[in-house]
Amino acid sequence: MKRVAFYTLGCKVNQYDTEAMMKQLEEAGYEIVDFESEADIYVINTCTVTQQGASKSRKITRRAKRRNPQALVAMVGCYPQVDADKVMEMAEVDLVVGTKGRSKIVEFVKQAMRAKGPVNFVQEMEEDDSFEEIAIEESKERTRASIKIQEGCDQFCSYCIIPYARGSLRSRSLEDVKAEVMRLAEGGFEEIVLTGIHLGQYGKDKEDLDLVKLIKRILTVEGIKRIRLSSIEGTEVSDELIDLIAESDKLCRHLHLPLQSGSDKILEAMNRPYNVQEFRDMVNKIKAKVPEIAITSDVIVGFPGESDEDFDDTYQVVKELEFSDLHIFKYSKRQGTPAADFENQVHSIIKKKRSEKLRELSEKLSSAYQQRFIGERIDVLLEEVRDSQTGMLTGLTDNYLRVLVDGSDDLLGKLVEVKLMEKEGELIGCLE
Ligand code: SF4
Repeated sequence: MKRVAFYTLGCKVNQYDTEAMMKQLEEAGYEIVDFESEADIYVINTCTVTQQGASKSRKITRRAKRRNPQALVAMVGCYPQVDADKVMEMAEVDLVVGTKGRSKIVEFVKQAMRAKGPVNFVQEMEEDDSFEEIAIEESKERTRASIKIQEGCDQFCSYCIIPYARGSLRSRSLEDVKAEVMRLAEGGFEEIVLTGIHLGQYGKDKEDLDLVKLIKRILTVEGIKRIRLSSIEGTEVSDELIDLIAESDKLCRHLHLPLQSGSDKILEAMNRPYNVQEFRDMVNKIKAKVPEIAITSDVIVGFPGESDEDFDDTYQVVKELEFSDLHIFKYSKRQGTPAADFENQVHSIIKKKRSEKLRELSEKLSSAYQQRFIGERIDVLLEEVRDSQTGMLTGLTDNYLRVLVDGSDDLLGKLVEVKLMEKEGELIGCLE
């Protein structure tokens, strides 16, 4: 039996694609082994969202070939999709697949094994591409499974390579999503995370379909206790979605809304589809209806042309909107995107300072959000493994609070109600 090892870089969508490819290879009789062990085939599911993502993808590929020089090494996903020629130049690579055609991974592997030299299966993105149906039945995590419901993006933010790497918007059919959720529920999964490259656009390429319709349908699946949305644009949160979060006890009180900048000038240069006031209004509307909601966000610091005043605007907006968690990215040039050629690139020292300043603010805001729930009773979905540092059980609340729980192994993977306390900055859930 041939052994296959995977390495996945990048986002949740990539994780999903890896699990789907694993399933196909397993069904075809391959054995999935750990990436650190010797395998006959290595598949590196790459990322190219930053220049570092691409360089790490190359590094891991070389490492795989060093581990077993006889192995077939495949590079798949976003990086080969945008830079197939460069990938094909790598002596370590035997098989190259883009973001299209991963449902044929078994066939591609077989063809590459028969070939005398490296083979390239990267296909051009077409406007009429449809969603490539590759499903999973299990996930590395045993309690929470991410499923991909949408692919591609038509927004073309000026810093982002994704529309070039993943092509135009495609939505998965409602029936296929529901069938996958049912399979996962039968497999014991209690939380489903709906992921996509541009989630809020789900259904826009279909007749009479949108994200709310899909959520309503899967809320009815027996056994699923929670549905969480991955990142969604603030402009795409409908009143209906807010109402659904307010009313449903299964749809998590958590939205990740990328702000990126608190300066209208920078938002425009980024080609983001909103201004600061529109974003602010949306957050306030959501909080008015769901006061306990966790709103998390992304910010890019040091985008070309970001002045001290622009950064101060961002700082003030973050402070005002009290995000419960913030991912801060220092802008890095991605060749092939318009922003890479913009003038007034910001020096790395300034980016670092801005990032640190925002991180300090973000820590205070996270802590203040956490404080609001001390003393409350709340459900925690415990994970299958204990926290590596404390040895305690660990899990998330629906509003994205990480909680440690002192309990026995029979609670692993279970949804439990706890009373929240705080100890040395950590949230502790007491089982009573
Ligand atoms: S919305 Fe913008 S940042 Fe997000 S995937 Fe599309 S182009 Fe990239």
